[in-house]
Amino acid sequence: MRKYVIMGVQGSGKGTQSALLAQDFDLTQISVGDIFRWHVQNHTKIGAQVRRVMAAGELVGDDLVESVVRQRLDQHDWNYGFIIDGFPRNRRQAEFFLESYDIDGVVHLDLPDEEVRRRVLARRLCSRCGLDYNLIAHRPEVADRCDVCGGELVSREDDTEEALAARLRDYHGKTNPVLDIFRRKEFVFTVDARPERTAVQQAIREQLGLPPHQP
Ligand code: AMP
Repeated sequence: MRKYVIMGVQGSGKGTQSALLAQDFDLTQISVGDIFRWHVQNHTKIGAQVRRVMAAGELVGDDLVESVVRQRLDQHDWNYGFIIDGFPRNRRQAEFFLESYDIDGVVHLDLPDEEVRRRVLARRLCSRCGLDYNLIAHRPEVADRCDVCGGELVSREDDTEEALAARLRDYHGKTNPVLDIFRRKEFVFTVDARPERTAVQQAIREQLGLPPHQP
C-alpha cells in the first residue's frame, strides 16, 4: 500500500504526474479541485457553496475541504493506495491529514512563478469529458476541439491573470508552511517540474524508490 501527496503550484503538472503514477501502481487518484469542479458542474449544494470562491482563485473553507477529503477516503476503494493532489493547502489541513492518515511521501513539484504563468494561461479543458490540454505542450489536433470526444475546449474559470495572481499569493503564503511541516517528518521529495513530463515522472520515481516508467 502506497499513500502519497503531490504538491506544487498550479500548472506544475500535479494532475499529469499523479495520473502516470496512479496508472502504473494501481493507485486511486484523488484531486480535491476535481471533486469541487464536479460539484459545480452538477449544481450540487456543495457546488453552490464553492463556485464563487473557486472562480476568484481563493481557498474553500477548511471544514468543507476536510469533510470532502474524509468522505472520499472513507470510500476505501484504494486497495493499493492513493495519491492525493490539491490537499493539504494550509497548516490546518496538513495537521488534520497527518492525524488521520499515514503517508509514505510528499512529492513536491518545484516550478518558478514565471513558468507557472506561461503554462496556466495556455491550459484548456474539454467541457465534455474533462481531458486536459495545453496550447504549448499538448495541443489538440483540431483547434478548440477535444481529440477524444470532440467536445469544446474551454479555459478553467480560474485560469485568468487575476485569479492566478491570487492563487500564487495563497500558494506561497499558505502552502509553503505545509511543506515545512512535512519536511520536519522527512516526507518531502522535491522534483524540478520544468523538464518535459516523462523526465519529471522518472525523477519522481527515482526519488520515491519506484521502478521506472516504461513509455
Ligand atoms: P485545483 O484544481 O487544485 O487548482 O483547485 C481548484 C480550486 O478548488 C482552488 O483554487 C480552491 O478554490 C479549491 N480547492 C481545491 N483544493 C483545496 C483545498 N485543499 N483547500 C481549499 N480549497 C481548495
